Amino acid sequence: MRTSNFVFTAALLISIGAAAQQPADAKPSAQTPAPPATETAQPSQQAAPASAQTDPAQQAPAAAAPGNTIAPPPPAPAPTTMDQVVNLFIEREHGLIKVLSNRTPVVETYLQNLSADPQLGPVPSEDHYFLGRLDMGETVDRKDYLKEEEKTMQTRLLGGFQKLYKVQYQPMGFSWMVYADRTDFDREHYDFHYVRREFLGEVRCLVFDVTPKPKSGHGRFLGRLWVEDQGFNIVRLNGTYYPAPRNSYFFHMDSWRLNLIPGYWVPAFIYSEEGDFSAGAKNKLAFKAQTRIWGYDLKKGGKDDELTNIRVDSVTDESAAQQDASPLQAERVWQQQAEDNVIERLTAAGLLAPEGDIDRILQTVVNNLEVTNNIDLPRPVRTRVLLTSPLETFSVGNTIVISRGLVDVLPDEASLAAVLSHELAHIVLGHNLGSKYAFNDRMLFSDDATYQNLGFKHIPEEETAADKKAVDLLKNSPYAQKLDNVGLFLKALQAHAGALNALLTTHLGNPLAAGGQVNRLTALSTLGPALDNNKLDQIAALPLGGRVKINPWDDKAEMVKTAPVNITSARDKMPFEVTPFFPRLSRYGAGAAQPAAPTTAANNNGTGN
Ligand SMILES: [Zn+2]
Repeated sequence: MRTSNFVFTAALLISIGAAAQQPADAKPSAQTPAPPATETAQPSQQAAPASAQTDPAQQAPAAAAPGNTIAPPPPAPAPTTMDQVVNLFIEREHGLIKVLSNRTPVVETYLQNLSADPQLGPVPSEDHYFLGRLDMGETVDRKDYLKEEEKTMQTRLLGGFQKLYKVQYQPMGFSWMVYADRTDFDREHYDFHYVRREFLGEVRCLVFDVTPKPKSGHGRFLGRLWVEDQGFNIVRLNGTYYPAPRNSYFFHMDSWRLNLIPGYWVPAFIYSEEGDFSAGAKNKLAFKAQTRIWGYDLKKGGKDDELTNIRVDSVTDESAAQQDASPLQAERVWQQQAEDNVIERLTAAGLLAPEGDIDRILQTVVNNLEVTNNIDLPRPVRTRVLLTSPLETFSVGNTIVISRGLVDVLPDEASLAAVLSHELAHIVLGHNLGSKYAFNDRMLFSDDATYQNLGFKHIPEEETAADKKAVDLLKNSPYAQKLDNVGLFLKALQAHAGALNALLTTHLGNPLAAGGQVNRLTALSTLGPALDNNKLDQIAALPLGGRVKINPWDDKAEMVKTAPVNITSARDKMPFEVTPFFPRLSRYGAGAAQPAAPTTAANNNGTGN
């Protein structure tokens, strides 16, 4: 619904505060007509953690599923010795392996190779991206969405690393630590030593060091486990595998689980890091990588499922009663049918978050652009969040899609408005793509073939026209006074475009940059001050993972709420970078789980652990 007023979205403004910037004005500027309060939802309140109960219609199917399909384990008997605790968590680990064995969640790994910068320390010099489905059955395995890319990538790596590190960039390598040991997690293969008690977030844990017994074989878990003290489930694993077979290499990993269904903690985030930047060290390998797992509740993609999932009923509402559709109406209904099909299919493939609170924030921003430009479209513009990291936007019909990674790195609401305005411009200019997807047969493909079957790239002429229109929209919007921030963001993007090719490689829409050159909204790129690392109050772009959190069970997305963190050096800024995960753990039902709020705080994943 379009409202007659615009509002700045408080949630984003709070995050700007976190970046230690000068007063972020929470009020619309005075020059624009501002009728008194409207019915526009105030997104920040809606996004409170307890608000799992959003829109009942939307929520019913997803929310009902966990409790119904997976029964919680019987309560654990109270252990009296640490030996009994060890027996309990071994048993619980086997229970988890069993419960998840028919799941095929989405798994994404985004990796940044690091090189030393005298001023900024280790900075990304190159990046890699993997996306696939994790089969958690007999042996954990994965199927990749990016077949072409993966091949080139492996060919290149084999050229570079074959001799020494054959396995390490196999995408599967980053998912190993979903379990400590898929097959032999027991007392015959491991020694367990109790260390201490420790809180992770709200959850009290018992901490154990785990070492493989001598001669227990290659690739055994070596490191530390955190076990929650009620159900005795493992909630975090930190370490590596040992010993490595000849000519291969195991990463260090820090693996976190969330209590998303009663009685079970499911693997959600894995951080990996290698490299030594101390004086005199020679790095054979230096990188940091985030692996995210989501979509546990996705249907196990049978063709029958896909057929029943295609929804075409909603398109009938549009035409006036008792009248035949005019040619124009027919065209619009057709386009909406294509739009609905695509949105439905991407959601089923685990690539799109269900409609949720975060969309209210995005729609508020779109609404601000529409109201101040007197745009009145036949149907309201909708927004959805693509769950992946690469920075991309696209639109299909009247739906604007923006990736989680892009929302994460945008420094402020004006920059968000700028990237959304480009897609709004496509819609306003009638650059409709994808009407071919109104044919339902085009939705019948396996999930891992999504990128081969769907695409929404515009021709260069439409891109240019959309950019021009977007700038007009922005100049006539409440964001007109803040376009300097957009210019600064574009400069930061340009500064990193050469190194972050994988992050800037889009899979469905047009890229923001190509060949190391930013090509989106270039008319704004000269605005604002020069990029200056030494200015601590100049935040041009944020690290990945700081804004959007995803519930790995039902894929719901919401805005992260982080407390302001002071930036004390240029190294704290970390624009576009991956950081360790530090989710605030909580038990199921005790407020929503709090995934993905990595902080810039200490990285406990030290190699010495
Ligand atoms: Zn475009």
